[in-house]
Amino acid sequence: MFNALTIAGSDSCGGAGIQADLKAFSANGVYGMSVITAVTAQNTMGVFGIQDISPEIIKGQIDAIFDDIEVHGIKIGMVSKIESIKAVAQSLEKIKKLPYIVLDPVMVSKSRFKLLSEDATKTLIEELLPLSFLITPNIPEAEEITGRKISNIDDMKQAAKELHKMGPKNVLVKGGHLNGPATDIFYDSVNFSEIKGERIDTIHTHGTGCTLSSAIAANLAKGMEVLSAVTMGKNYVAKAIEKGFKLGKGVGPTHHFY
Ligand code: PLP
Repeated sequence: MFNALTIAGSDSCGGAGIQADLKAFSANGVYGMSVITAVTAQNTMGVFGIQDISPEIIKGQIDAIFDDIEVHGIKIGMVSKIESIKAVAQSLEKIKKLPYIVLDPVMVSKSRFKLLSEDATKTLIEELLPLSFLITPNIPEAEEITGRKISNIDDMKQAAKELHKMGPKNVLVKGGHLNGPATDIFYDSVNFSEIKGERIDTIHTHGTGCTLSSAIAANLAKGMEVLSAVTMGKNYVAKAIEKGFKLGKGVGPTHHFY
């Protein structure tokens, strides 16, 4: 049985964060494990508070898993504070043979709540990008990291090149924030691939980024080659959005299916 580990924040309403990751792992056929970096008080209408987990307990969770278990894939999501990012990086750097790491550089929720503290972007770039096999920023995240405005596919390609120089082996810039079809740009240091998707007409999109990065991490954990892992991950999240549903009064979750 292949397994995958998510290092991320908890979402009390279950649509995003650790909860979405574990559902996406199961649905994509791997056993899921979790290291919780923060607990959010959250529902379909917004995020109302964050409690960061201490760096010692973040390290303790990672060490406990790696002392005992061979991990096949890792997804990193919300790690909101400089000290938390350093704790994750220090624990992972100790591991001799790191599994594939997919980093979703989570910054702001769809409800506009900051999930990465203002001063932590530089630390995220310096500590976690070089450890990553793949990073999956959306357009606002890619803009924040590169300092470059992105308005079209050519800008996305340029940003992917700049992000690649910061250390990750592969880059997926997600195009959902641009108008028109949801085309993502994948860059592996040699080739660009345009991964096309239909725009799905729904408001129930809570947790889409978490779901995509986890589905890709699960695919990599199973031994899939990177472009197939990304393409299959995108197909999965498209179906999960199609089946997204109303839960509570606000933006409902994507639906994980088997
Ligand atoms: N809450 C947590 C813990 C998350 O990790 C994320 C995204 O990664 C979100 C909320 C935001 O989800 P969304 O922007 O899809 O609502």
